[in-house]
Amino acid sequence: MPRFNLLADIARYCAEKPCTIPEAMLDYELAQKRLTREEILKALDKTLSVMENAVEQGLRQLMITKSGMLNNWAKRVFECSVSTLGLPLQKAIARALAVSEVNACMGKIVAAPTAGSSGIMPATLVTMREERNISREKLIEGLLVSSAVGLIFAKNSSFAGSEAGCMGETGSAAAMAAATITYLLGGTVEQTFEAAGIALKGAMGLVCDPVAGLVEEPCAIRNAIGVANAFTSAQIALAGVKSLIPPDEVIFATKEVGDLMSPRLKESALGGLANTKTAREIQKKVFRSDE
Ligand code: SF4
Repeated sequence: MPRFNLLADIARYCAEKPCTIPEAMLDYELAQKRLTREEILKALDKTLSVMENAVEQGLRQLMITKSGMLNNWAKRVFECSVSTLGLPLQKAIARALAVSEVNACMGKIVAAPTAGSSGIMPATLVTMREERNISREKLIEGLLVSSAVGLIFAKNSSFAGSEAGCMGETGSAAAMAAATITYLLGGTVEQTFEAAGIALKGAMGLVCDPVAGLVEEPCAIRNAIGVANAFTSAQIALAGVKSLIPPDEVIFATKEVGDLMSPRLKESALGGLANTKTAREIQKKVFRSDE
């Protein structure tokens, strides 16, 4: 049975068997769960469908949260006539916002790895499908690659905003997405995991400071930035640039940084953006309207 505690363990398994990262993760899943290969792939196909539907829903339906903080941002970005760096990135950002809005409006999303960070992986996969004509079969392999990074991050750090801040949520999602993009564009195992490490370095120390304690602001924005982080990190890794700190050590560092972070900056809505004058006024209004 494969024992994966580090990204390096998965890389070694891939080299020794030899196999790809998706095959290694399928071996892992088969050993962990009493499911057949077909059942696992079917579940992943369903996961992908939920992600795709959430992107569509966020871009097509009216998306105004009960608090009013999020108000059809995704559509506005998708349709904006000014593009900073071209349409593909613009659309990827809009898709991440779309799923964040669906989540905040209580729609169906995939926590990947959390509800707060649920926009990054769907935006990545749909953008790869649209821009690179990646097949469904390959996108499912991409999900398995993301699961490799997610597994190791969960073992050695934390997905919880209350433990590792937003670094643990949108940071880890960006790392999962960066690895996925790198794999789908033909990166080696080393480059794929390198991309994850680079994305995490970009999110190191990111605090969790949701306004009024709701997963809306700055959460949606951080999903948008997270998908940009993923494409940036994959680009660097695919060029063969190696970061000085190995990805497993970057993950260990996120654990240390999360432990050092003040509880005021870990989902308590006591510090950071949540503690600004405007955020406090919004909070009062939201809770008054709930009474
Ligand atoms: S700011 Fe906090 S609640 Fe919002 S996405 Fe980040 S970790 Fe989640």
